[in-house]
Amino acid sequence: MAKQPMLKFVTVERDMPEKREAGARKQDFNEIYAEYAARKAEEQSARCSQCGVPYCQSHCPLHNNIPDWLRLTATNRLEEAYEVSQATNTFPEICGRICPQDRLCEGNCVIEQSGHGTVTIGAVEKYITDTAWDKGWVKPITPVQERDESVAIIGAGPGGLAAADMLRREGVQVTVYDRYDRGGGLMTYGIPGFKLEKDVVMRRIELLEKSGVEFVLNCNVGEDLSFDAIRGKHDAVLIATGVYKSRELPGPGAGSQGIVRAIDYLTASNKVGFGDEVAEYESGELNAEGKKVIVIGGGDTAMDCVRTAIRQGAESVKCLYRRDRANMPGSQREVANAEEEGVEFVWLTAPKGFTSGVDEPGGAADGVVRSAMIQRMRLGAPDASGRQSPELIEGSDYAEDADLVIKALGFEAEDLPALWNQPELEVTRWGTVRAEFGSGRTSLDGVYAVGDIVRGASLVVWAIRDGRDCAAAILQDLGAATVMAAE
Ligand code: FAD
Ligand code: SF4
Ligand code: SF4
Repeated sequence: MAKQPMLKFVTVERDMPEKREAGARKQDFNEIYAEYAARKAEEQSARCSQCGVPYCQSHCPLHNNIPDWLRLTATNRLEEAYEVSQATNTFPEICGRICPQDRLCEGNCVIEQSGHGTVTIGAVEKYITDTAWDKGWVKPITPVQERDESVAIIGAGPGGLAAADMLRREGVQVTVYDRYDRGGGLMTYGIPGFKLEKDVVMRRIELLEKSGVEFVLNCNVGEDLSFDAIRGKHDAVLIATGVYKSRELPGPGAGSQGIVRAIDYLTASNKVGFGDEVAEYESGELNAEGKKVIVIGGGDTAMDCVRTAIRQGAESVKCLYRRDRANMPGSQREVANAEEEGVEFVWLTAPKGFTSGVDEPGGAADGVVRSAMIQRMRLGAPDASGRQSPELIEGSDYAEDADLVIKALGFEAEDLPALWNQPELEVTRWGTVRAEFGSGRTSLDGVYAVGDIVRGASLVVWAIRDGRDCAAAILQDLGAATVMAAE
């Protein structure tokens, strides 16, 4: 009888790829996890119990066929594992790196529930497709038949690119417009290299170019080119512009120099990583080197800022969050990584205001931030959402020195109907574009929307899901959903 290759979770312990030591990894912006060796990937995949009803799959936004690609990996059938994996996910190696697996697939793995430690699904997913790239199995799309219909995609983030990929597979002509000088959206300019190295994103953009997707970069729609001009040129338009309006800090001194937006800070750092010249980095405005840094916020963006500041050589990095560790939105895995790298979390605190040189007797009149006035909080009664609301502790204020304050309080949608002169484009009360669930159809005929601009700040994997679903709806509406692409 053939030996059972799976269900090894009782005898084989969960083992993640090796994590680089904190002292070494904070010297650079490279990813912190090494790759699995082939044997280790097989061994870890073999821990899966091949559930009849796989909760990992139902909690993956893409409903990836996880048990199948784990079994194929465990039995050294890696090319087939890659085929299965890429059938449902446009960027498996990216999701394997940056999905919050503890809240999605891995958090719902039954062997985790039974106390054996989850199957390392994300690490295996990354391993499969990184290997596929190394072996040359990842090929540009060659549609079986070219079609005349053309689709404009505004925004080269994961939502737009996932749709571009699916549309090209059916031979549709695709043009992607983006205001940045590189594609990838937040995968390129938001998420730092230590979570997602940039060549991983750039090779995907190149693959799409080789697949016939046209990129029009440095094109800010609404300024450089009107939305109506794009609409007039293409048979359908997909809005995938993400959310970029930063929430601002209240309080006196909040407009001081040296108080910067997280997105500006992270974009500058990522551009420097590409070797670009960034004036605000050179001038020190968006550079933490030698500074006392305070980051305000408790989400993943704040985690990325604190860890970037450490790598830039900050003197100290403190993260202020108004709730406690258990109630923060950011991933616990990222908090642990940040703490290992030397970040100090100051839970249950919020800034009340800031002082600059002009506030100090005899201080410099440069308006540059010198300190933050911080107030302590406690958690009160749960609000309507069930979360405990932070309450101020009167008389608990204290001052903390700071040369750089980074605001990571979340993002909101820009006012697209006004910016693009499209009053008929319906938006929600949060300013996000109102789009039909599952298709992305908006109030404008032939115009669709996906990703963060519909959901509000979300995840790469959800943007991919939206992009793929929307491409299917566009194909249906164009009457183009007929042929399957060959690779
Ligand atoms: P985006 O990725 O934002 O792309 C939108 C694109 O549209 C951009 O390239 C932008 O330049 C372009 N654009 C906008 N307006 C215009 C215009 N007028 N004209 C032309 N182009 C325009 N998610 C995870 O899953 N894991 C993580 O670890 C993670 N970390 C994150 C860290 C940070 C710092 C941030 C900010 C987000 C993070 N996210 C993470 C969230 C994730 O990046 C987003 O949910 C995802 O990128 C949204 O995809 P999108 O395609 O909707 O938009
Ligand atoms: Fe898990 Fe994300 Fe991969 Fe789905 S796409 S299997 S949620 S890592
Ligand atoms: Fe395997 Fe866990 Fe998914 Fe079950 S839930 S199929 S054990 S990965």
